[in-house]
Amino acid sequence: MAERYKGLKASGGLAIGELYLFTRDEIIVDDRKISEAETKAEFAKVKNAIDEYVKELSNLDGASEAQANIAAAHTELLSDPYFTDTIESKITNELKNAELALDETIKEMVEIMSQLDDDYLRERASDYKDIGFQVMYKLKGIKAKDLSNLAKGSIVISKELTPSDTSNMNKEAVVGFATDLGGKTSHTSIIAQTLDMPALVGMGDISTKIKGGEKAILDGNEGLLIVNPSEEEIAKYEVLIKEQKEKKIRLREIKDKVAISKDGKKVEVSANIGNLDDLRLAIENGCDGVGLFRTEFLYMQSSDFPTEESQFEVYKEATQMLGDKPLIIRTLDIGGDKGLDYYDFPKEENPFLGYRAIRLCLDKKDMFKKQLRALVRASAFGNLKIMIPFVVNIDELKEARRMVDEIKVELDKEGIAYNKDLDVGIMVETSSSVIMADKFIKYADFFSIGTNDLTQYTLAVDRGNENIANLYSNYNPAVLRAIKHVIDVSHEAGKWTGMCGAFASDTDAVKLLLGLGLDEFSGSSAKIAEIKDTIINSSQQEEAIFAEKILDCELTEEVEKLVKEHK
Ligand code: PEP
Ligand code: MG
Repeated sequence: MAERYKGLKASGGLAIGELYLFTRDEIIVDDRKISEAETKAEFAKVKNAIDEYVKELSNLDGASEAQANIAAAHTELLSDPYFTDTIESKITNELKNAELALDETIKEMVEIMSQLDDDYLRERASDYKDIGFQVMYKLKGIKAKDLSNLAKGSIVISKELTPSDTSNMNKEAVVGFATDLGGKTSHTSIIAQTLDMPALVGMGDISTKIKGGEKAILDGNEGLLIVNPSEEEIAKYEVLIKEQKEKKIRLREIKDKVAISKDGKKVEVSANIGNLDDLRLAIENGCDGVGLFRTEFLYMQSSDFPTEESQFEVYKEATQMLGDKPLIIRTLDIGGDKGLDYYDFPKEENPFLGYRAIRLCLDKKDMFKKQLRALVRASAFGNLKIMIPFVVNIDELKEARRMVDEIKVELDKEGIAYNKDLDVGIMVETSSSVIMADKFIKYADFFSIGTNDLTQYTLAVDRGNENIANLYSNYNPAVLRAIKHVIDVSHEAGKWTGMCGAFASDTDAVKLLLGLGLDEFSGSSAKIAEIKDTIINSSQQEEAIFAEKILDCELTEEVEKLVKEHK
């Protein structure tokens, strides 16, 4: 009888294989107290073990980019003076031996990281655990068990896998893994994604339920592990795996094609980025441009508001990387859920409806002008466009445009080049910008619909509130009518509308959005080829007829059902 276990989807894909239970040798930490005379030698032991591990990390022969990133991250953590000082203090001041000092320091670091609010930083706790294992093995002179020698077709089950475990896996032999612990943003999950290997994490106590050797199916798309599946189930998955392989090959060929529907509607399929690394990935994935560069990350990673010059360098490099492909850069969208370490936002009852984005920028014009100057200057190097977020009133857009014009006059005087035809558009993400779209389009060169916010403001449903998550749907007919209205208004004015909210990379929605007349889809890089594939194989006019039917629906559920049937 098959047993089915659910887990968090760390990496998509399907695999059929045999389970391999990976257990780590339990480490017994020596708790002997040492004498003052021994302290120097004990600290030297830890230092040597750390140095040995750092040396190992520097050998990047045959390492993937993800492995190299992890090696760099571990090297950085190990070179943090706080880490080594804490170990040294435990040895020198508390007379703890090398093993105990290392063990306690790692546990403290793991505890600190686990309590952080940020998902990504919290997951760095597993990197500290990993470092702890690696350095401890070296201290004890034990060779760590690894996953480099498994039989072909193994699905690894473990309480926890560290980033080193995952990167040491023999990729020819291991077809997937599932762990009790871990989160979607852990380094372990990131490696699985880059290896294109199905993986589940957060499975509770799966490692206590498995003996090893059982036949199993790992479904990374559905978050499911099926142990001892029936012959029929295996046959069903064999077909799915074959289809998936064929699709992957097809998508690899499609990614760099132009997305033109069967009846000739050309659509741009672009990417959303937060930094230059994202842009590199987007280019590799065949993006036609960037539909949204979220510049707030530049501000969040700085220790003060970034200067004009430092921003100019980034915008210029991004523009040049894209050549003549469009790069839409959003001006600072800070506030709401996004704060800055170096700036005290006013305490507000409703920060999402508060002092944020263009409101804050127009209130702090000196700061805003630095960003606009950097953008206008960078426009000389390619196809850069400026996008203003969270616009509610026409005068916000007019004032931003006035500032851009003022900067152009200044740059003329200074003899600095810029693109004289630089486009300035807006994000349509508030109800008022939809309702007033016909007025906005007089002053905007393009629209880009931010469905993440538009859906929350149209439906009065907080996009981050789990209690009402069932009410938050981009398929709500009110949202779809808003989208249609905005696209129609822009077309009547001879302009275009894109979409940079997550709805644009919902692969189930591509036909519907094509039918509504969308001109540009911008979202996750990983979805570019699939979106292009759907567009190339669809007819815009046929989808427009389907979209009409959808716009006549009364309920979200009706829309979702029709969209599913129409796939
Ligand atoms: C949006 O609101 O759809 C959007 C793309 O912006 P953000 O998610 O950054 O608010
Ligand atoms: Mg938004």
